[in-house]
Amino acid sequence: MRTFNMSKKLDYVCYDVRGPVLEEAERMRSQGIDILRLNIGNPAPFGFDAPGEIIHEMTENLHNAEGYSDSKGILSAREAIVNYCEYKKIPHVGVDDVYTGNGVSELIVMAMQGLLDNGDEILVPAPDYPLWTAAVTLAGGKAVHYICDEQSEWYPDIQDISKKITPKTKGIVIINPNNPTGAVYSVEILEQIVELARQHGLIIFSDEIYDRLMMDGFQHTSIASLAPDLFVVTLNGLSKSHKIAGFRCGWMCLSGDKSQARGYIAGLNILSSMRLCSNVQSQYVIKAALSDIHTCDDTLLPGGRIYEQRDYIVKALNNIPGLQAVKPKAAFYVFPRIDTKRFHITDDEKFILDFLHEKHILMVHGRGFNWLMPDHFRIVYLPKIEELKIACDRLGDFLDGYRQA
Ligand code: PLP
Repeated sequence: MRTFNMSKKLDYVCYDVRGPVLEEAERMRSQGIDILRLNIGNPAPFGFDAPGEIIHEMTENLHNAEGYSDSKGILSAREAIVNYCEYKKIPHVGVDDVYTGNGVSELIVMAMQGLLDNGDEILVPAPDYPLWTAAVTLAGGKAVHYICDEQSEWYPDIQDISKKITPKTKGIVIINPNNPTGAVYSVEILEQIVELARQHGLIIFSDEIYDRLMMDGFQHTSIASLAPDLFVVTLNGLSKSHKIAGFRCGWMCLSGDKSQARGYIAGLNILSSMRLCSNVQSQYVIKAALSDIHTCDDTLLPGGRIYEQRDYIVKALNNIPGLQAVKPKAAFYVFPRIDTKRFHITDDEKFILDFLHEKHILMVHGRGFNWLMPDHFRIVYLPKIEELKIACDRLGDFLDGYRQA
């Protein structure tokens, strides 16, 4: 009988946020076991609602959205994105430099497919949001991971980046604010990255999907604002800031000096046309979403849900012997370190599976984020404090007796 195998293109492509551990959790759920899910940054199931005006815009415009749009998106959405770029001081962005996408995810894949030949290298952070590594690999490239340093607020290690640049390096990815660490990069660190990109002729890809989820008064700087002379690709979207991950609404804008990237841009235009256009009904909410730039989401302020949940989880994790967590400054993830010697841990995925089996809580192991050592894991702190408390109590109990075989 003829059998069909996975394409070899997928041989080294890995996306563990939805990988084998999740499959096991689904299997347990199908047997009636209740699983507390701390594994995915999807605000809606945790009781975060989209703003009313977003729902209004989408429902009002359903008829207008029946046909395909321009492949880059409807003009009013792209104009709103251009205004947002002006607000973020991202230079030289016109409506033709903006591509809307079915989430940032689609655009990450497109950005890599359009650029990479087999063997080309892209610098990607470790830990990363693993779609970046997967997209580089799927495009035939090699993701070269640079270390982000937990001891220095999870900032990128500039020396490590420098050491890893080769003649094959075409670009560097930054995720700022960061998933999974919650780090927000200072202007100084961004300037050092820009300087390296300038010296070595690299494209900067900046994933800024969490730029509106800042806490503690930290300001977000778009790296593109510091690099008017370079070609920079900035990605952003509404999944997290407006709690509409299911609407699949993102965008990508090209800024700075585009003269050096004409060929690449032609490739992006082909790929954009090939998918015809992104969800048109979702494009209709962009203008309304970006008209409220100055209103702060009160869940991020003291007394607000995300802020209080963040404070709770960081304290609770740091109170568990053998765990240490750096306080996130943005988004809704924490990436604690686990004392592997104390618990004899050599396989972090096994640790997460053991915890799932025994305590029915789902998290993601650190190597799922291309972190090299088995000594971290990620928790999503979107659930209410009552649930986070259950999770931390069970984690403390579990670790108390845990020794990996
Ligand atoms: N980039 C980062 C850093 C993310 O964390 C995520 C989702 O979790 C995405 C991109 C994908 O977002 P979207 O829903 O826009 O596809």
